[in-house]
Order: sequence, then C-alpha cells, then structure tokens
Amino acid sequence: MSRPAESARRIGIDLGGTKIEGVVLGVDNRPLFRERIATESAAGYEHIIERVAHMVERLRHEAPESGVVGIGTPGATSSRDGTMKNSNTTCLNGRRLHADLERRLGMPVRLENDANCFALAEALAGAGQGAALVFGVILGTGVGGGVVFRGEVWRGPQHLAGEWGHHCIDPDGLPCYCGQRGCVESFIAGPAVEAHYRARAGTAVSMPDIVTRWRAGEACATAIVDTFLDRFGRAVANVIDILDPDVIVLGGGLSNIDELYTLGRDAVARYVFNDELRTPIRRHQLGDSAGVIGAALLV
Ligand SMILES: [Zn+2]
Repeated sequence: MSRPAESARRIGIDLGGTKIEGVVLGVDNRPLFRERIATESAAGYEHIIERVAHMVERLRHEAPESGVVGIGTPGATSSRDGTMKNSNTTCLNGRRLHADLERRLGMPVRLENDANCFALAEALAGAGQGAALVFGVILGTGVGGGVVFRGEVWRGPQHLAGEWGHHCIDPDGLPCYCGQRGCVESFIAGPAVEAHYRARAGTAVSMPDIVTRWRAGEACATAIVDTFLDRFGRAVANVIDILDPDVIVLGGGLSNIDELYTLGRDAVARYVFNDELRTPIRRHQLGDSAGVIGAALLV
C-alpha cells in the first residue's frame, strides 16, 4: 500500500517546566519518533529557548520537510501584548515567548496552552473522536481544561475558554493563588485534597493513598473523598450547563480514579440543570502523550 507524501508529517513539542517532549506524527496521527530532554529551566529564559531549538533540530532530522512546529505549554499568550502569562515556569511569564521562538527557529510556531493541546489530541485522535464539541479536563496537580469545537481549539478573545479550574464554587472557601476564594482547583486538585485530608487527620497522606483508605472505609478519607466527588459533580455540572458538550474527556493524574466515572458522574447528574445526564464522561485514551500529540495537531 502506498503511503501519502512525507509532507503530511507533523512535529510537536510539549514544553514543561522539567522536560521537553518532542514528537513526529505520521499521517494517521500516530507517533513515528519521540524524544525527551530536560528543560533545565533553572538556567533561565534564553536557555529554555535554546533547549527548544535543540529539540526542533532533532525532530526536523526525522521530518525535514516540516516547516511549522506546534508547541504546547502551560499558560497563555496575552492577546494584549503577546507576552506569556499564567505559566508555572515563571521565567516565561512577561516574555514574548511566541515571537522569540519564531525568531530563533526561523519558522512559524503554533503556541498553545497545554490543556488545549490535551483536548485537541483527545478530540482528534483519542476518546473524543467524532464528537463536535469536546471539553477536555486536566485533573491533577492543577485543574485546567480546553474546548475543541469541530476539530479546532476554541480559545475565545481573551484565551480564557475552558478555564473552569478558577470558577468559584464557594465564596467562603480557601484563598486561591489567583486571588479569589473557593475555586474549583482549591477543592478537587490533588494537592488540595491532600491538604484537606492533612488538616482533618493531622497526617500527610498522598492522593492515591487517600483513595485507597476511602475504598477501605476509613472515616476521614470517606469524608474527604465524598466531598471531593461532590465538588467534582458541582463543577462539571456548571460547565455542562454552559457548554453542553458532546463528550467530556478526563486527563491528568486523578483521571485514573475509577469512581469518577460512576460516583463522580452521579454527582454531576445531581447538579446539572436537566432531568437526566446524557453527556458521556470518558477517560483519556492517549495518556501522557496527549499533550505532545495535540501540539503536533496544531500544525
Ligand atoms: Zn483560583
């Protein structure tokens, strides 16, 4: 069987605070080549640009015809002045990352938020295939999300679309780093659940162990995880009331908690503004690779 021309290969990069992952995608959206290097972000902004350039060089060796690179990273480019904001690799914030990368690489760059890349990958090549409106959820050390409509990332004019992690679900809740109180993230992100457990039980226990203790019926874990599932339900129901997506895909470390798809889903059904819940809530299919695959799919 003859293969389409090599020009269909796409290159993508997931730029994180500790590692840079690169991929070359074939025509069927499957990785043909992948590589990981350390970001070495402690060495500063210029060094990170050089590390990305090094990775692009490696990828173009495998896909010499590719003239565009997709890059996913936490944070967003300000539509006001083109600088980065909200990145947890803080030396990127306030810098013109997009323009500086294009200048250094000498090629066009499609730069996108990492949660949007996750949503795009799952929409086009994972658990959301065939759905018109996909809401991709990252549930891990933070809570993020991305909206993909008819195969394209829906950003909104302020690059805010999908940021459900900072919806307030309790004005009397704990302060969040964003300046508000009672954000979704301060209830259902892994570190938040661990902090609630520590405050109640007086001992530090990891999220997976809290879940294990909950399944074993421990009283403190029961209270904490029941609340976690309830808040998950409220927060997801709020999103469904506005977007009514065709499918919700969960990613991030906490998405591997099986009960999110049963008890968590029941909680969503309790709070959604409808007499039934038909929205499928699915586990990711692409795993840790979704971010880098989504970056390549930006091209
Ligand atoms: Zn917040």
